[in-house]
Amino acid sequence: MKKILFVTSEAHPLIKTGGLADVSSSLPKALADLGQDVRLILPNYGALKLNNEVHLRSEFPIGSYFVRLLETKLPDSAVTVWLVDCPAYFGMVGNPYVDVFGNAYANNADRFALFCRAVSEVAMNRVELNWKPDIVHCNDWQTGLVPALLSLEYQCPPTIFTIHNMAYQGIFGGLVASILQLPPQLLSQDGLEFHGMISFIKGGIAYADKVTTVSPTYAQEIQTAKFGYGLEGLLTYRNDDLIGIINGIDADWNPEVDSLITQKYAVDSLSEKVQNKTALQIRLNLPVDENIFTLGLISRLVEQKGIDLLLDCLSELLSLPVQIVILGSGDKDFEHRLSQFAAAYPHKMALTLGYNETLAHLIEAGCDAFLMPSRFEPCGLNQMYSQRYGALPIVRNTGGLADTVIDTLPISLANKTATGFIFEEENAGALFETIKRALVLHSIPDTWRQLQINAMTRDFSWTNSAKQYLNLYESIE
Ligand code: ADP
Repeated sequence: MKKILFVTSEAHPLIKTGGLADVSSSLPKALADLGQDVRLILPNYGALKLNNEVHLRSEFPIGSYFVRLLETKLPDSAVTVWLVDCPAYFGMVGNPYVDVFGNAYANNADRFALFCRAVSEVAMNRVELNWKPDIVHCNDWQTGLVPALLSLEYQCPPTIFTIHNMAYQGIFGGLVASILQLPPQLLSQDGLEFHGMISFIKGGIAYADKVTTVSPTYAQEIQTAKFGYGLEGLLTYRNDDLIGIINGIDADWNPEVDSLITQKYAVDSLSEKVQNKTALQIRLNLPVDENIFTLGLISRLVEQKGIDLLLDCLSELLSLPVQIVILGSGDKDFEHRLSQFAAAYPHKMALTLGYNETLAHLIEAGCDAFLMPSRFEPCGLNQMYSQRYGALPIVRNTGGLADTVIDTLPISLANKTATGFIFEEENAGALFETIKRALVLHSIPDTWRQLQINAMTRDFSWTNSAKQYLNLYESIE
């Protein structure tokens, strides 16, 4: 049994701004199910949704602050959570990183430096917990100073740093180094220094024993200038210690047990999936038609997700016998342009702006295919959900999309491994051609059904991913 300290800045359902929160609850739970002793540590934000008992475990000084370490349990699990309590830094109610105007808090460097210092004390078993981890697993830039600080310690536990998205790096002006009183040994070009500034993510990448990211293809991509954001050189240097492990998906994304959909179904009752299509069409005021090729898209409406690629072929797409169902919010220009199409084609396209978990489940259950034309995608979840729901994903060949979808080609059709449709070029023409490829196959019911079965029977469980992390933990002792 391994003692694992899992370090993160958010965890569902305590606090969530993105996919990191999902990983930070699902992976520790899956590791615990595999018999590991895993403890989660995160800041005690004012906005945490705590429903289990919380009690004080320890108190210790970090710089000029007295930090309290509170203990609770992750809801619906036996996983212990430690909360680093420092009201001056984490007490505000709201988003953990940005103010109401969406601007990063001015003292984010101090806030997460204090968090990392507190974590290092816990990791070194210096705060009367009588628990020393065998592995410290850090996630994203907010935790990047932990491997750096631990590298200065005698007999520190091994560290792993996981990159969930290279686009967020925690870069601060060089002056913060003195404000944070970072040890000078850490400030070299091989350390935290980044073009005269201080990079938190670089601390994780440079000092952790192993670096992981959330798909094997993204692990390769971030070693190139296009995806590496200036750290491609360091990532290439660390190539031997850099691996990609795909995230799992939660058990409640399963059409056999999903209480948010109209009709549950499985591979052996696939014909019942159509009841969800009908329910979706009724709910969204689209003409009810069992046979029409229905495409879904659920996404943040941002450039990363390739929304403009879809917009650029939408008028041609809407001239085909299809229905398109979109749920999302984000960039106002994308929202506006999509709204114009939805208004012009009310019988073919339904747009729902906003966040709606229930509708997201019904779209997966009701659609025939699912669009994900992302420019980059570290892992991506929706393409895995859609395979489990038999809504075949149409994706760009990048990151986790490339690793989790098997393109429909003569060979993969023949050996029953094909699960979706992949296109290469980052343009609307390539997306459109691939949608047409899917449309043609959809008109051959037996073939389509076989593709759905191939997709629905793939294993995207967290157990699978957790075993890979465990192998990695075991490899670095
Ligand atoms: P990312 O984390 O980059 O946004 P992922 O595919 O990894 O993309 O995960 C997105 C998650 O958020 C999925 O669970 C998806 O269903 C959900 N989601 C995104 N937008 C919406 C929305 N408007 N309503 C409901 N769920 C959404």
